[in-house]
Amino acid sequence: MTDFRANLRPGTRAVHVPQPVVDNSRPIAMPIYQTSGFTFDDPAVMAEAMGRPDGAFVYGRYSNPTVRSLEQAVADLEGAVAGVATGSGMGAINIVLLGLLKPGDHLVAQNSLYGGTAAMLGELTARFGITVTYVPGDDPAALRAAVRPETRLVYLETISNPMTLVADLPGMCAQARELGLVSVVDNTFATPLLCRPIEHGADIVVHSATKYLGGHTDVVGGIAVFADTALYEKVWHFAIELGASADPFAAWLTLRGMQTLELRMERHCSNAAFLAARLAEHPAVAAVHWPGLPSHPSYEPAGKLLSGFGGVLSFDLAGGRAAGEAFMRSVRLALLAPSLGGVETLVLHPATTSHRSLTPEELRRSGIGEGTVRLAVGVEHPEDLWADLAQALRQPLQ
Ligand SMILES: *Cc1c(COP(=O)(O)O)cnc(C)c1O
Repeated sequence: MTDFRANLRPGTRAVHVPQPVVDNSRPIAMPIYQTSGFTFDDPAVMAEAMGRPDGAFVYGRYSNPTVRSLEQAVADLEGAVAGVATGSGMGAINIVLLGLLKPGDHLVAQNSLYGGTAAMLGELTARFGITVTYVPGDDPAALRAAVRPETRLVYLETISNPMTLVADLPGMCAQARELGLVSVVDNTFATPLLCRPIEHGADIVVHSATKYLGGHTDVVGGIAVFADTALYEKVWHFAIELGASADPFAAWLTLRGMQTLELRMERHCSNAAFLAARLAEHPAVAAVHWPGLPSHPSYEPAGKLLSGFGGVLSFDLAGGRAAGEAFMRSVRLALLAPSLGGVETLVLHPATTSHRSLTPEELRRSGIGEGTVRLAVGVEHPEDLWADLAQALRQPLQ
């Protein structure tokens, strides 16, 4: 099975979901195994199953066939050996960080991290004495300079939010390997269709499945996948103790969404390209941030690392905060909402919402302006989207 699947392209593998065989039945679509546990004839077989991540299904918090199918599907797309699905993206990030780090450890993280991750790292420092040094995601020399004897891990994001800076995964992961550090990459914005960090040297890849993997704005979930069995087993043992496991229905929704991942990503990327070009020409827009634009600082590395530039872009309104707020009030088709990666286009004003806790200085450092708008481009017809954005850009400031 492995050899046959290995020759299939990612989009095909996403459609043909790997299924653990239960009682020799072979359903076409993976069913929802809505059960909290499994029964056994032989106590020795049950005991064996309880101690192994790849053993027989025994208890819902340890594993479940629907959840296992999702874990295998994402591991397959990412080129990983195995995965652990969780109740949210933050759950996946936490099983990895808490499962691998102990008090006194140090990690090096890319600056401009997802807000929840940055807040979590603050907690780890305040409560567990796990310290963090922030470096640019494309500066292996800065990584080397930040390392101390107690450094254990490097934490990166393939594409950053909302400025869409692209990490130098090959350079950073090679440096991490040379220094004996575990490299963890949040690949949520890229998905395994645009980038597979393990191919570039990463040890662990995490996703918020809430975003593109699920893709339909109807499920919260996460997953961590591993290049190496030892790391997988360590994190799996910790995850079942922490109780971060995915629910079978949520796993099923994610699997169902993933079958159209390639179709959706093509449209997200082409829509983003179309809107980025239109926005860049508009007089009310001072700058557009999307790695597919030659003016973007990550344009060249993105072209090498990614097979598409992604569906998230941001732009700075020349009119600043007032223009940002007026724009948010004026969109009709695009929805004012958090999150991204679904079929619907969503807009957000980071300065007053997702990044509101940042000081003006921190905002400036992350490149986010008072008039910056983030657009999570959906799969609607591009002309309908542009018509909506264009009418919102015409609205007078209030
Ligand atoms: C949304 C998101 C997360 C957190 O995922 P949840 O499913 O909301 O817990 C982590 N990283 C990135 C890049 C995200 O966009």
